[in-house]
Amino acid sequence: MAAVKKTTEGAKAPFYSPVSDECDVFEAAERHGLPLLLKGPTGCGKTRFVAHMAAKLGRPLYTIACHDDLSAADLVGRYLLKGGETVWVDGPLTRAVREGAICYLDEVVEARKDVTVVLHPLTDDRRILPLDKTGEEIEAAPGFMLVASYNPGYQNILKTLKPSTRQRFLSIDFDFPAQDREIDIVEHETGLDTDRVTALVRLANKLRGLKGQDLEEGVSTRLVIYCATLIADGMSVERAIRTAMIEPLTDDEDVKRGLMDLVTAIY
Ligand code: ADP
Repeated sequence: MAAVKKTTEGAKAPFYSPVSDECDVFEAAERHGLPLLLKGPTGCGKTRFVAHMAAKLGRPLYTIACHDDLSAADLVGRYLLKGGETVWVDGPLTRAVREGAICYLDEVVEARKDVTVVLHPLTDDRRILPLDKTGEEIEAAPGFMLVASYNPGYQNILKTLKPSTRQRFLSIDFDFPAQDREIDIVEHETGLDTDRVTALVRLANKLRGLKGQDLEEGVSTRLVIYCATLIADGMSVERAIRTAMIEPLTDDEDVKRGLMDLVTAIY
């Protein structure tokens, strides 16, 4: 099954601090109904960006968190037994196509391979969704827009997008916000004072510098926000850093010790 969240038009736009000209690119893609791919590490603001843009443009949004069991049927729909009758029930992608909504597939490479098959006819100028099971061929309603995200950093060659799929999307490269911008974001999200937020963001950038050596992934903005939330709630800085910025990064005891040494050296 798909974990789906629907937000309707008129929702208040969640706070998003632009890193570059990504809002203009999104608006241009939306104006022309072009599919958009957001590339970047986990927790750097991609989902927040899409939620912000959909609300700003006053558009309904279906957000689908993809996972390795998610199949085309979860997106498109299936026949279900209801009160002794077999009825067709649209999946979230089909609903978005019919309603002319924005459909966001978060971490699309996690999904099963048959998902790309249903995306292809939607991402070229046909803009159709064929429903094999019902024989229907749905033309995307005006306003339908497909947005997908993926993290090119994962060290799994099997979990990458095929060029034939990638080349159907406009793409924006995301990364963690620059230091001052990230400080603003963390302050805004948590209310922690500038000095303590600045120290955390500096530490996050140091830890990001270790990516590829001891760590597969750097600390995400999301984790910095968690950490600042714990500190604002009264937890000691050391405990909060260990819980939100060290333990989530690695299970290796030696690496953890090394990272905590770095923390002690900085604080
Ligand atoms: P992703 O989808 O890339 O995994 P999210 O969009 O969930 O990451 O971002 C994680 C959190 O980081 C968000 O909930 C938000 O609080 C914060 N965040 C990251 N970048 C920004 C930004 N540019 N503006 C506002 N908040 C941001």
